[in-house]
Amino acid sequence: MLVAELEFKIIADTSFAAAEKGIRYYLEKLIFQGQILGREFPTYQAKDSFFSRVVLPQADALEKKSHSKTGLDALEQLQQVGLSYPKLKILGDDLMSNHTDPCPSHSALILFCSFSATNSVLYCAEHFAPVPLYKVGRSSGEDFESLVRWQLQYQALDEIQMQEARVLLKSAEQSLQGFYSGLNQQGYKQAKALSKELQKPVYYYLYSGSSSDCSLDAGKKCPCCGSDWQLTESWHGLFDFRCEPCQLLSNIAFDCQL
Ligand SMILES: [Zn+2]
Ligand SMILES: [Zn+2]
Repeated sequence: MLVAELEFKIIADTSFAAAEKGIRYYLEKLIFQGQILGREFPTYQAKDSFFSRVVLPQADALEKKSHSKTGLDALEQLQQVGLSYPKLKILGDDLMSNHTDPCPSHSALILFCSFSATNSVLYCAEHFAPVPLYKVGRSSGEDFESLVRWQLQYQALDEIQMQEARVLLKSAEQSLQGFYSGLNQQGYKQAKALSKELQKPVYYYLYSGSSSDCSLDAGKKCPCCGSDWQLTESWHGLFDFRCEPCQLLSNIAFDCQL
């Protein structure tokens, strides 16, 4: 992934507040389309321009064709607040983030979320590398706002349950590993809807951290349909279970793998 800077030139009378609002709105639409990653975008003014630091999944992320419908609207609105179209300058590789999947198209995807990664939650099923959301091949022009908002909630809970002194005791973990939790039902529903729209499998990964009895964990059934779903060999070194009809993946509880 790449660190880049966007320059918005001041081209007409504007106020700091109006310019800031326009930039914020535009960046938000880029987030919802997976064109920029992360949550914080330092923005400053120097002479007659504003500059924002962003992380891009790939160099083509800000091309016009990568925008959603609302993203294109936000781009046009910049001029109404006295700013130019942004000029992009790539500063270099982001050493802190992982590599974007190189495939031009995908026969299947995996919806996978973890607490630390800011990248796309959609992964190439073949390489298990993140696919930028704008590359997923949605034809509707809609963005991924609901998926990105779901990712934020998932990560907030994951962050809590990773801490030694958890403030929510077991409830964060139950949200993450219970198939019928609100969090997982929301995520699973989005994977299903996307699978239908794209006409390809979109597997949903169900996290498994702990088990009440490790001796039984490898024999657990698909929580959706009750079938046997253990793989003879783990997939991508992470998934020990896969149910094809349900498009569901999981692992032997991490606590039982120690
Ligand atoms: Zn791939
Ligand atoms: Zn199943």
